[in-house]
Amino acid sequence: MDVLRTLGLRRTPQSERADPRQQLNAAGGYAFVLDDAARLRRFLTLGVDGGTYYAAARELARDNAEVVGRMAHEDPETLVDTIVDVSVRGAAPRQNPALFALAYAAAVPESTQLALAALPRVARTGTQLFLFAGYVEQFRGWGRGLRRAVGSWYTSREADALAYQVVKYRQREGWSHRDLLRLAHPQTMSPELRATFEWIVRGTLGDATPSLIEGFVAAQEATETTAWARLVREHRLSWEMLPDAALGETAVWDALLDVGVPQTALMRQLPRLTRLGMLPDLGGRTDEVVAQLVDADRLRSARVHPVNILVAQRTYASGRSARGAGEWTPSRKVTDALDTAFYRAFEAVEPSGTRTLLAVDVSGSMSVPISGMPITAREASTALALVQLATEPSATAVGFTTRPGSRSWHDSALRPLTISPRQRLDDALRVVDAMPMGGTDCALPMVHATEQGLKVDTFVIYTDNETWAGDVHPHQALAEYRRRSGIAAKLVVVGMTATGFSIADPSDAGMLDVVGFDGAVPSLITEFARGL
Ligand code: CA
Repeated sequence: MDVLRTLGLRRTPQSERADPRQQLNAAGGYAFVLDDAARLRRFLTLGVDGGTYYAAARELARDNAEVVGRMAHEDPETLVDTIVDVSVRGAAPRQNPALFALAYAAAVPESTQLALAALPRVARTGTQLFLFAGYVEQFRGWGRGLRRAVGSWYTSREADALAYQVVKYRQREGWSHRDLLRLAHPQTMSPELRATFEWIVRGTLGDATPSLIEGFVAAQEATETTAWARLVREHRLSWEMLPDAALGETAVWDALLDVGVPQTALMRQLPRLTRLGMLPDLGGRTDEVVAQLVDADRLRSARVHPVNILVAQRTYASGRSARGAGEWTPSRKVTDALDTAFYRAFEAVEPSGTRTLLAVDVSGSMSVPISGMPITAREASTALALVQLATEPSATAVGFTTRPGSRSWHDSALRPLTISPRQRLDDALRVVDAMPMGGTDCALPMVHATEQGLKVDTFVIYTDNETWAGDVHPHQALAEYRRRSGIAAKLVVVGMTATGFSIADPSDAGMLDVVGFDGAVPSLITEFARGL
């Protein structure tokens, strides 16, 4: 055998470097490296809780914190703009990474001003302010600039809006509004704001105290269902403002539903409402709850993240809470409504009309939960593929893995994903959970299309980019597919973990790396496929 026949630029095993810009990924394969700005987006959107299959959570967190620190020094504008963008669009299912990054930026001289100026846009609720306060102490002390920024969080809003924040979100992570006011000492001329501060710090009520606070105080002292229901209607209290005893009462929930339960809270309270018998198949509050759940405008204005709906759908359909011992008999109408809400929570997608092969990496490393949520990377990928299937008429979906122990695509286990948007989400996820797992070869979709003579304009691969098992790199396999098919095929890589690797060649305009999970991903994919 001529050993020189084994070398070249068009075909390199993934365990060897095919391009000088590639680095060794955690799985022992070579992949391209994201720049800091792209890496930051992954971190802010996907988070690091739970780590990856290969990296412990702390290790992954430390790597991403390094990216934030570097950008705070070198490119503070991009850093803070990206934090604000991801936060304000509701692109991430959890706000912790954005608040952490902002807290870090608030401690680096080059970015302090920008970060503190962005505080009210990123910390929009009392809880988010507490999270920020906790994170910021990890990086710096309470200097004057920070105290002024926190103070203006309190003084820059109307008294009624502030009252809502302080009685709805009262403490978190060892922080309370009293703690923050004592640190920040905000000054204001507004009698209502002053009265609100007085109540927070000393617990005293006065003539100028906002009525919501009076309602909250009265609800804590009340013991009768009728009193709670009356206070809810009179002061438009939310469920968080009521004592636990009130929350087991149907009449109280009737009042809460009458004044309006916000979208995310409603999703989380569905098990409770079901247990209380308020969501029967016929009658009860079912029809109006269902109508609100699927209301696209409300989903968007409340910035409800699709992944949170996905988790809510599966939890609700299972009839058991993930943490507690709570059980309920799920209502079919509510389960279906959550299904519909999931698809509607994404930005409107215009189909590209291109021949699209959706390939979900179902390998073992994709079975880790992401963002600390009860959902694995491969389940989230499947759900994203379903959204694309629902909008792209000529799309088809496959799952790929290699047989355990194999290092060759000849042993590939690329198989059709028998999922459909007509299935219920929890059923579709079960299909993928039942698929066998093995090594990872992200080149398989292109190799398969080449071998089978498939006509594909757009490959979409959902993966953690920890590819190692193939004897050709994914970007080489795409180049070969283009040569052999004559189609200028594109590749979209949907990154599902907050690592710094991508199989996409950054210098190839026909390849795009996007962050999985972001509600804008389906429309980004079709726009790229259409050549925009
Ligand atoms: Ca893998």
